[in-house]
Amino acid sequence: MAKLYFYYGAMNSSKTANALMTHFNYQEVGQKALLCKTETDKRDGERVIRSRIGLEMGCVFLSELMQMSEKEIKSYDCIIVDEVQFATREQIDFLSDIVDFMEVPVVCYGLRTDFQNKLFSGSERLIAIADCIQEIKTVCWCGRKATCNARFNDNGIVRDGEQVVLGANDSYVALCRKHFKLGMIRPVN
Ligand SMILES: [Zn+2]
Repeated sequence: MAKLYFYYGAMNSSKTANALMTHFNYQEVGQKALLCKTETDKRDGERVIRSRIGLEMGCVFLSELMQMSEKEIKSYDCIIVDEVQFATREQIDFLSDIVDFMEVPVVCYGLRTDFQNKLFSGSERLIAIADCIQEIKTVCWCGRKATCNARFNDNGIVRDGEQVVLGANDSYVALCRKHFKLGMIRPVN
């Protein structure tokens, strides 16, 4: 039976690389997977999913997936969604309909929380309704598991501002909860 999956992790936990690998794995066994990303993610400004390690692949926007016919969606063996945290509750519910009524598995990748440790809309809905929720782990500079996405500038950690600042991907660092609380984005010396 098809399932709705949510793989979440902090910044730089290789979520996008994992999404591209999942697509590749389907391809390798002769199956067809569709790559999607949320439109809020205009970092790349194009229909491309690009990972830090240099892998990239074409995709469609989630809003375009929602315009596809049932027949077209059912022609895929799997739907893969990157940057899913930016999806709306309605979009996540639509993804769950693909699973329940079209029997196509949907695999989502994204951040769990924002720079203030608050859930993103898409992640909140997925945590509520996904069949399978799994963490992709990464580490803080101290070696502990990183669960927080700290935003920073030249003066250090930033605690206030808009939830989404696009194109500012290098203004974030994944920290453990303790160092997030202390605002230590790197070891002090
Ligand atoms: Zn730490």
